[in-house]
Amino acid sequence: MLRPESLKLPESLKLIVLIFLFLLPTGSFAPPLAQGQEPAAASLKLVNIGFETFGEGKDKKLHIIAVFNRRPDYSLMVLDQPPRFIVTLPATQFAFAAGMDTTSRPALLRDFRYGATGAENARLVFGLRQPFHLQIIESAALATAGTPPAWRVIWEIAPATPESFQQYLSLQQADKAAALIPNNETRQNKTLSNRQQAAATGSGDSNAPFIIVLDPGHGDFDSGAIGVNNVREKQVTLAFAQALYRVLQTKAGIKPYLTRETDSFLRLGERVEKARRLNADLFISIHADHIDTPSLQGATIYTLSDKASDDMAKLLAEHENKADLLDGLPADEPPAVADILLDMARRETRLFSEDFARMTVAALKDSRIALIKNPHRFASFQVLKTVDIPSVLIELGYLSNPEDEKRIADPLWQDKMAHILADIIAHYAWLHGKIGVKP
Ligand SMILES: [Zn+2]
Repeated sequence: MLRPESLKLPESLKLIVLIFLFLLPTGSFAPPLAQGQEPAAASLKLVNIGFETFGEGKDKKLHIIAVFNRRPDYSLMVLDQPPRFIVTLPATQFAFAAGMDTTSRPALLRDFRYGATGAENARLVFGLRQPFHLQIIESAALATAGTPPAWRVIWEIAPATPESFQQYLSLQQADKAAALIPNNETRQNKTLSNRQQAAATGSGDSNAPFIIVLDPGHGDFDSGAIGVNNVREKQVTLAFAQALYRVLQTKAGIKPYLTRETDSFLRLGERVEKARRLNADLFISIHADHIDTPSLQGATIYTLSDKASDDMAKLLAEHENKADLLDGLPADEPPAVADILLDMARRETRLFSEDFARMTVAALKDSRIALIKNPHRFASFQVLKTVDIPSVLIELGYLSNPEDEKRIADPLWQDKMAHILADIIAHYAWLHGKIGVKP
C-alpha cells in the first residue's frame, strides 16, 4: 500500500525553495564494520528526500534529491494521467521522519507518495502538475567518510509540452513492447541488464561480488599499433591486463574477468557482449596506440561521448572502431535507440564512467605515472557504448614514443600500474556498496 502524504500545502512558491524534509541523525546509520568482517548486505534505506526549484516559467526546473544509505539499484517509469514518475526500488526502509515540516512545496510537484509494494519492492511516486521531462543529474557516493558511504541521486524535472511528453511516453511504450517480443532482434540491445531487471523486481543481491571485465585490445591478426622498437600493442595490452587481473584476484569482494586470455581476435561487439553476459559492474578496455606525434607520451583515460573532446581523441576512436573490419565481415553498428529509459540508464552509466575516469587520473597523478596533457578525454568508442555498464578505455601510453614503448613493455611498470588501478577499482567498488570494508 502506498500511503499518500496527505498534508495540504499552499501553492505559493519562492524563487528557490530548498526543503530538506527529513533529516536523520547519523547515529541511525549502520555501525562501521570491523576489519575482516564479511561485506555487509546492508538493507537499503532512503534516509533523506529533498526538493529544490530553479528558474521561472518554462525554464523552471525541479530537483528531487534522494539520499540512500548505499547505492540503490532502481528502475524508473514515466506515466500519464496524471503526469508522474515511479521509482521502483528493492525492499527499502523509509528512514526519514513521517511528516513534512514545511509549509511550502515546489510548484511542479503535485504529490509525493512512497511505500512497500509486496515484500521485495518499494516505490516512490512523484506526481507532477504538468507534462515533463526527466533526467538523472547526479548519482554518486556522498563522501568517502563512513562505511558504507551514503549515496545521492538527483532527478531533474523540466516542464515539457504535452506533445513532447506524449512522444516521450510512446517511446517508453515501444521499448516495453520490444522487450516482450521473444527473439526480437533489437531486444538484446534494448533491454537493460539482468542487474537492472533484478533491481526492478527487487531480487538484487548486495552480497554479489563486484564484477570487472578487463579487455586487452586487439589480438591475433590484429596486432594493433607497432612500436618504434617493434613492441606490439596486442602483446602489451594482454600482458598488462593479466598483471591487473592477478592483483584484482587478491582483492576481497572483486571478481575479475578477461575478454581474451590468449593471442586471439575478438570483434568489438564480442568484447562488450562478454561483459554483458557476466553482468559486469565495470568494463576497462586496455590499449597502447600509435600517433603521428612521436614526442607525445603518457597515459590517457577515455570515456564515451558522441562529440570527441579533441581531434586526437576523435581520430583514435575512428581508428579503434575499425578493428572490426579486419576480419572481413561488416562492422557491427549498434542500433540507434531513442528511448527514455535507456537514455536514463545511459546517463547514469556515463556519470559512473566519468567518475571512475576522474578517480583514475587523480590516482595516477599522485603516483607520478606519466600522463598526457588533459588525461581524461572523450570520444565515440564502440566498446564504450554499453548502455548500463560503466566503461572506460585506458591508453597506457604511445608506442610511437620510444620511452613510452620501453615503459609499457616493462613488467615492473606494468605491476606498479596494475596495483594503482586495482586500488582505484576497489575504492570504486566500495563507493558503489559492493565491498563492505573500505579498502
Ligand atoms: Zn588499440
